[in-house]
Amino acid sequence: MSVLDLARAELRSLQAYASARMEADGGAVLLNANESAWAPAGDDGAGCHRYPQPQPAELVARLADLYRVRRGQLLATRGSDDAIDLLVRAFCRAGSDAVLVQPPTFGMYAVAAQIQGAGVVEVPLGDDFRLDVDAVLAALAPAVKLVFVCAPNNPTGQGVPRDELERLAGATAGRALLVVDEAYVEFADGRSVSDLLDRHEHLVVLRTLSKAWALAGARVGSVLAHAEVVGLLGRIMPPYPLGRPSVQAALRALSTEGRERTRGHIGMIRAERERMAAALRALPSVRAVLPSQANFLTVRFAEAGMAFRRLLGTGIVVRDVRRYPGLADALRVTIGTPGENDLVLGALREAAA
Ligand code: PMP
Repeated sequence: MSVLDLARAELRSLQAYASARMEADGGAVLLNANESAWAPAGDDGAGCHRYPQPQPAELVARLADLYRVRRGQLLATRGSDDAIDLLVRAFCRAGSDAVLVQPPTFGMYAVAAQIQGAGVVEVPLGDDFRLDVDAVLAALAPAVKLVFVCAPNNPTGQGVPRDELERLAGATAGRALLVVDEAYVEFADGRSVSDLLDRHEHLVVLRTLSKAWALAGARVGSVLAHAEVVGLLGRIMPPYPLGRPSVQAALRALSTEGRERTRGHIGMIRAERERMAAALRALPSVRAVLPSQANFLTVRFAEAGMAFRRLLGTGIVVRDVRRYPGLADALRVTIGTPGENDLVLGALREAAA
């Protein structure tokens, strides 16, 4: 059995659109893509009058090195949101297939499924928002083609033990793709499960430059998967997903200097996360701070609505997560600079006084 047996049958044989730049990239006089012969104002050598490479070779090479996979196992996407959408479109037939999600979790898995006309099977996280492998397996109907696990989870912040993910990978083989969204893994104590890709052809790992790499505005993510899955997603994605300025920003961030900077910020965010967790726990208005392996803290308040308004009144916007199951009293606070974090504490202390 091939992992592509799980994909939509009509897409397995789909002939991808052959874009001009895919057909010929090398000539001295490029008149095959209906581009402008002139660079736009302020281009500064970026070359934005030319279409970018569909999968920019240097960026793919750098990302594959960073994530320790082979180049053929990586697809560069417009952030993980794009990757989630591509996976759902490639593997779920409208009206019959489904994805499995574990609320409270990142909302885009279910939204992408709904846009595609696919079903959403919900298996709530267990006690303390832990992954409940047995409950997931019990709900794994034949219609389920994608099982999403967010590790660490947004919006709760808890990490997912590696042995649980391995058990889930073993038990889902041949039945559904296991998609592990590691948007926040750089902030966690544990490491990526991408080293399991060679053992599990149905495993997909999502990574992004939006969080630890400080490039949310550039929209660069990666799908790490079996080469056949990468190939299929590449055939159904639009021809030129990554803009030249985004690719250049990503390459700068991944330079030696950029890596150093990122490492420093990850260390600072992790330290600030612990400092903030302790300080918040000491506040009378705070009921609990969920343990976090990510770059945010989800905080239970005696009166979350009041805390939200209080923060907003001082110009601080946090995420109101009260609509999520099990989080009716909670707000999610991203870790900012030490100064910004102090402003959060100050506003909440003042409210208590
Ligand atoms: N996955 C998770 C768990 C997220 O929290 C987010 C962003 N909030 C994303 C994916 C999307 O990230 P990107 O910017 O890479 O599209």
